[in-house]
Amino acid sequence: MKTILFHGPSGSGKDTQVDLLVKKYAFENIGTGEMFRVMYKDADLEAIKAYQYWSKGRFVPNDLTYSMLNKWLKRFDSKKSWAFVSVVRDVGQIPLFDELLENSGRKLDAFVHFLLPEEIALERMSLRMVCSYCESTYHEKYKPEAVKGYCDKCGTKLTHREDDEPDKIRFRLQEYRRTVAPIVSKYKERGLLIEIDASPSIESIHTELIKRLGL
Ligand SMILES: [Zn+2]
Repeated sequence: MKTILFHGPSGSGKDTQVDLLVKKYAFENIGTGEMFRVMYKDADLEAIKAYQYWSKGRFVPNDLTYSMLNKWLKRFDSKKSWAFVSVVRDVGQIPLFDELLENSGRKLDAFVHFLLPEEIALERMSLRMVCSYCESTYHEKYKPEAVKGYCDKCGTKLTHREDDEPDKIRFRLQEYRRTVAPIVSKYKERGLLIEIDASPSIESIHTELIKRLGL
């Protein structure tokens, strides 16, 4: 039973890698995107408050996000391995994440950071299609959908994100590097950092990942 925190720039394929862990190693995939959507549908009061932020593409305040996560975690099987995806987005969330794990009686085994050169990130993202409903991503070259133009998981019509234009991608990558650097150094200090090169194929990244995680 492992508890892993995953992080990586968009285009690094972290969601695809976590999906493989879910399929092959029965991990629970825990992320805030699904939490906000599902709890909002369930008319959770905090989720309704959070909706005012995420529906406008704004950052949901840390306290609110983590208060929701405390409730959200109760839905997952505590005997399974847990994969947290991008739930620590700024350094101020680290103590909140520590507390969250403590409340769940778990200890973090690793912080996995996917690394990707800018040129490859650009190529990957500019050919990317995304499902606006479940946030699954597809790629013409690396990860095509089964039925062209429609999401494999939920059947929603896929779209190209407006912010997947090269200049916007460059800006996002810059922002990403700026915010992730202090997070990476914190987990490095704790001896939990695992860096994975995200430029090879999905299969070779997966092989490397399970080796490094000792699965
Ligand atoms: Zn979908």
